[in-house]
Amino acid sequence: MADPELVDVVVVGLGVGGEEVAGRLAEAGLSVVGVERDLVGGECPYWGCVPSKMMIRAANAIAEARRVDGLAGTAEVRPDWAPVAKRIREEATDTWDDTVAVQRFTGKGGRFVRGTARLDGPGRVRVGERVFQARHGIVLGTGTRPSVPPVDGLADTPYWTNRQAIEVEELPESLLVLGGGAIGLELAQVFARFGVRVTVVEALDRVLAVEELEASEVAAAALRADGVEIHTGVRAERVGHDGHGFTLHTAGGAEFTAERLLVVTGRRAHLDELGLDTVGVDAGRRYLAVDDRLHVTEGIWAVGDVTGEGAFTHVAMYQAGIVVADVLDHARRAAGGADPSGTASATGGASGTTGVRGSAGAVPRADYRALPRVTFTDPEVGAVGLTESQARERGVNVQVGLARLPSSARGWIHKAGNEGFVKLVADADQGVLIGATSVGPAGGEVLSGLAVAVHAAVPLARLRQMIYAYPTFHRTVEDALRNMS
Ligand SMILES: Cc1cc2nc3c(=O)[nH]c(=O)nc-3n(C[C@H](O)[C@H](O)[C@H](O)COP(=O)(O)OP(=O)(O)OC[C@H]3O[C@@H](n4cnc5c(N)ncnc54)[C@H](O)[C@@H]3O)c2cc1C
Repeated sequence: MADPELVDVVVVGLGVGGEEVAGRLAEAGLSVVGVERDLVGGECPYWGCVPSKMMIRAANAIAEARRVDGLAGTAEVRPDWAPVAKRIREEATDTWDDTVAVQRFTGKGGRFVRGTARLDGPGRVRVGERVFQARHGIVLGTGTRPSVPPVDGLADTPYWTNRQAIEVEELPESLLVLGGGAIGLELAQVFARFGVRVTVVEALDRVLAVEELEASEVAAAALRADGVEIHTGVRAERVGHDGHGFTLHTAGGAEFTAERLLVVTGRRAHLDELGLDTVGVDAGRRYLAVDDRLHVTEGIWAVGDVTGEGAFTHVAMYQAGIVVADVLDHARRAAGGADPSGTASATGGASGTTGVRGSAGAVPRADYRALPRVTFTDPEVGAVGLTESQARERGVNVQVGLARLPSSARGWIHKAGNEGFVKLVADADQGVLIGATSVGPAGGEVLSGLAVAVHAAVPLARLRQMIYAYPTFHRTVEDALRNMS
């Protein structure tokens, strides 16, 4: 076996989080090895956020064109998947080739290694025959993979995950979607708008079950209006494939058939593959437990979906900023510049370690109170912080205000496609918002102001004194504040 190669930092998994950490640490002057077994950039640019939002953009254009009738004359729409598939292939993914992304990383001074990495004892990472010894730390950004439920027969069928759904060049005639969460609903609506007969099967009693009940109702109604069949409270028991199509049998004895089956029942980290036992970390958990500086254990940080703090690109990027600051702080301390205040900048270098450029400033602590999330259905479902039921479960003295978009000036003007609402959840004792949901044509954008309010704990009294531009969708926030009780 070759001697270990000594480097400053090894980053395992160059998805959204890992690539950001590795690139920024390399730019700061550390010697960084980034290991990726698949495509640099990870799920988001190749099979997640970016291509799915291109699909949604196209599907929404179709829906808007269909709203011309009754608003602006008539429009004939003939959906064609070819330009969508082409855009995903050529503009989003370079036909699933990461040459540009690898160059982006190496251009920052990082060293790229293609392969599957495993921890190999404290400070060590093995990739095949090569072993790297990290002076300052190891960052795990290994993400998640689709979690496929143990439904009888399913594993033997050619079911789709998000990957095949994103890569599809020719649409099926019909599609069964197993899972009514954000990804399931987004893709179901897209395919339905392109003429696919779509059926969603969800085991829980409502779609988008983690969001407000009212959001589930509006989203389900919107999808049904697009022709999607939705069955909730239905548990898949057995799946068969006869060479042409799928049959899904439910626990209640119902049967659903379709040409294709898309399984989107959540995602799961695969900790067992990472060699965590070699560093004394429990691999039996669902996610890697981290503290508020994303530490897993001495010399190991984690970033992104693998931490279980929210499977969103913006969470991975947010955490990456903290990891970068903390690793640089450690590197600076190791170089002899210890600062007991813990707020030192990471400048200068020392013998034995690579020079560290740049100023990290105070290392921030992760705070997820105001975590925003958006389901990009039409209408969009934006939410931040706690839902009403989450707040009640925590024993908060809850106040709630809700206002419907169609009864707002802008909603009434907008007419077709105006479904939605703003719902506010406040801590009555503190007089601040602790959660909010904004559903509507621009639900994700309206969310921005609400996220600021939750993040900065803006007093309700201040929010009531604000001026809200007329006639915007976000003026519904003022109505919801007025309706609080
Ligand atoms: C269909 C879909 C739509 C989505 N839409 C949105 C959205 O609109 N907005 C949003 O915020 N988020 C969205 N997401 C979620 C988003 O894609 C993830 O939160 C994000 O990709 C997480 O980044 P990550 O770096 O943690 O993990 P990943 O992007 O999963 O990257 C992890 C990387 O690690 C590599 N890896 C794993 N193990 C090893 C190993 N042992 N050795 C070497 N390499 C390894 C993997 O190959 C992978 O490239 C969507 C996801 C999906 C599936």
